[in-house]
Amino acid sequence: MSATPQPPPDTLAARSLASVWHPCTQMKRHEAQPPVAIARAQGPWLHGADGKRYLDGISSWWVNLFGHSHPHIQAALVDQLGRLDHVMLAGFTHAPVVELSERLAALTGLGHAFYGSDGAAATEIALKMSAHYWRNTGRPAKSRFVGLAGGYHGETVGALAVTDIAIFREAYAPLVRLAATVPSPDARGAAPGETADDVARRAAAALEQWLQEHHATTAALIVEPLVQCAAGMAMHSPEYLRLARALCSRYEVHLVVDEIAVGFGRTGTMFAHQQAGIRPDFICLSKGLTGGTLPLSAVLTTDAVYAAFYDDDVARGFLHSHSYTGNPLACRAALATLELFEQLDALKANAALAQRIDAACAPITHHPRVRHARHLGMIWAWDVDTTLPDFARRYHQHAMARGLVLRPIGTTLYAMPPYVLDDEAVHCLASGALAALDATLKEETHR
Ligand SMILES: *Cc1c(COP(=O)(O)O)cnc(C)c1O
Repeated sequence: MSATPQPPPDTLAARSLASVWHPCTQMKRHEAQPPVAIARAQGPWLHGADGKRYLDGISSWWVNLFGHSHPHIQAALVDQLGRLDHVMLAGFTHAPVVELSERLAALTGLGHAFYGSDGAAATEIALKMSAHYWRNTGRPAKSRFVGLAGGYHGETVGALAVTDIAIFREAYAPLVRLAATVPSPDARGAAPGETADDVARRAAAALEQWLQEHHATTAALIVEPLVQCAAGMAMHSPEYLRLARALCSRYEVHLVVDEIAVGFGRTGTMFAHQQAGIRPDFICLSKGLTGGTLPLSAVLTTDAVYAAFYDDDVARGFLHSHSYTGNPLACRAALATLELFEQLDALKANAALAQRIDAACAPITHHPRVRHARHLGMIWAWDVDTTLPDFARRYHQHAMARGLVLRPIGTTLYAMPPYVLDDEAVHCLASGALAALDATLKEETHR
C-alpha cells in the first residue's frame, strides 16, 4: 500500500487515531485513509469538520430514521433532561418507560418490555429468556438455539453464538457456544424457474428436518425477518416466516424475530414480520427505536413467557440487568420518534419517497455490472459483478469524494437512507452512487 502522509498531529483525525479504538476497523488501514471528523449533522446531511457535506446514505449504521437533529426529538430530550435524567429501573419506574412500553405493546401485540442499550444485549436477553422459560417449565434440556446461515444478531460473546458471519466470529470461536444454522431463504438462491416462495419452502423444509431431530434440545429459532442486512441485504419471501412460525409452534420452539435493523418502517411496514401476518414469541428492537439519537434496545414477549417467570421463588424470575436499563432520556427519544411516525404519516410518506428513489436509481439497477437488484421499503441493494479484492473500501472512498456515505458489504452495494430525503438529496444519492460505481469499476482495468 502506498504510504500516504499522516494527518497533521493537531487534527481531530490524528488525535482520534492516537486515543480512540474505532469499531469494526483494522486500525492500520487508517494510515492510508484517516477517519473523517464530523462536526454537526442536520436532516440527512453530515457536516465535516473540514466544511464538506456528506449525504448519510446508510442512516449512520442503520439507526437514523427522520434525519439528524430533528427538532421534535430534540425538544423532547431537552424537556426530559430538565425533569429526570436517570433512575435505576429495579424497584423504581417513570413515565417515559411506562408510556413507551404501552406503545410498543399496542404496536406489536407483545408486551412486558425488557430494556437494554444495544442490539446485541437484546439478542442475549431474548436467548436467556427463552432458555430460562423452558427451564422454568420443566424442560431444561431445551437450551440450544438455531439461526439462519448468514444471520447477524450482534457481536458480544452470547450474540456471536447465533451470528453466522465468519469474519466477526472466527477469532472468538473458542469463546462461543455455537448455535446450529439452517439454510437461509435468501431469494438469490433461486434455481432457474424458481420463485422466492419456492426458495422459502425449500429452506422451511430444511428447518423442519432439523427441528424433527433436535426440537427436544432447542429453545428458539432466531431470524432477521425479510432482510438479513449484515449478510448483504439478503431478502426473502414472507412465506418463510409463515412456515417457520407454524414449524416452531408444532415443535414447541420459540420464534425470536430480530427487528433491530428492519423494524420501524424500514421494510415498508412498521415491523417486518407483520408482512407475514405472524405473531412471534419474542421481538428484539434497537437501532431506529430512538430515531438514531441514543442507545436503547427492547425485547417484547408473550404473556405465556412472562407468566412462567412469575413466582414466589426469586430464582425463577428474570434476574438480568444493565445499569442503564430503561433510561428515561432514551425512552423519551423513542416516544418522540413514535410520535413522528404519526405526525408525518411516515409509512405512507415513505412509500411515495421510495418510488422516487427507486426511479432515480434505475441506472444502477440496470447497470450492466449489477446482479440481483432488489428493493424493499427503504432498503436498496445491488450485487456488483467485480473481481476487485477490496471493492467495498474503494467504493466507499469514491462515494465520499462525491459527498455521499455508502459502505458496501463485500461486493453488495446498498442504500438505507433516512426517511427525509428531498429532491436534492435523492439526486445526490442516486447520481453519486452511480458515479462512484463507475469510478470504482474503472480501477479494475487500471490494475
Ligand atoms: C445491528 C444489529 C444487531 C446488533 O445491534 P448492536 O446495537 O450493534 O449491538 C443485532 N441484530 C441485527 C439484525 C442488527 O442489524
